[in-house]
Amino acid sequence: MLIDTHSHIYLPEFDEDRTEVVNRAKAAGVAHIILPNVDKETLEPMLALEATEPEYFSATIGLHPTSVNAAYKDELVWVKHELDRRPYCAIGEVGIDLYWDKTFRREQIMVFEQQLQWAIEYDLPVIIHQRDAFDDTIACVEKYNCDKLRGIFHSFGDSVEFARRILSLGNFYLGINGVVTFKNSKLSSVLEQLSPDNLVLETDAPYLTPVPYRGKRNESAYVLLVAQKLAEIYHLPIGEIGAITEQNSRELFRLD
Ligand SMILES: [Zn+2]
Repeated sequence: MLIDTHSHIYLPEFDEDRTEVVNRAKAAGVAHIILPNVDKETLEPMLALEATEPEYFSATIGLHPTSVNAAYKDELVWVKHELDRRPYCAIGEVGIDLYWDKTFRREQIMVFEQQLQWAIEYDLPVIIHQRDAFDDTIACVEKYNCDKLRGIFHSFGDSVEFARRILSLGNFYLGINGVVTFKNSKLSSVLEQLSPDNLVLETDAPYLTPVPYRGKRNESAYVLLVAQKLAEIYHLPIGEIGAITEQNSRELFRLD
């Protein structure tokens, strides 16, 4: 079985056919889907989808770096309130993104550090998003790293050196999605130098759609295409890739 550790199928892109999307995921062998939150706006649709099948979906809570602005203090109060209000399976997605805008770099770092501290305090895994901000991001995680801190560097697409630095933290996995199927991506050759034991699968639906559907809307069923590509890279049966990454995900999110 497969676990999609990163899917935003609660977004409006799926309002027309969400039931079919979920049925296709099940038919493709997806046993569980993690729904990472973005900000206040996404909370309600995310929780509504989780409520349809709480044993199939798990929601997370957190403030995404691209949603960090001058009002970040109020947003953090809201995240803390949610953490105390009901159980979530992870803190996410959180991190630093300097690709779109560097204006709030300092604020992004403060918000990320606060959420890393909550991950430790509430004993939850953390789903990390970083874009054009590896140095800042890893510096924050290294600062708070301890036995309790665990999680995923979601949408990993960096070098072997960066991968080794993440893995040397001790309790972190690399989240691999459709990018690994892109012809211009060096990720396959990076992964060849790493063990599949360090990986979890994800889609980041509706984004980063794998080949041959690149450019179209992504959905959780396509996590199978990511698993197929990893089976090719590691010369392992796809069932083996499924078993390894499912085990990693179940342990990390304490799904059983
Ligand atoms: Zn995401």
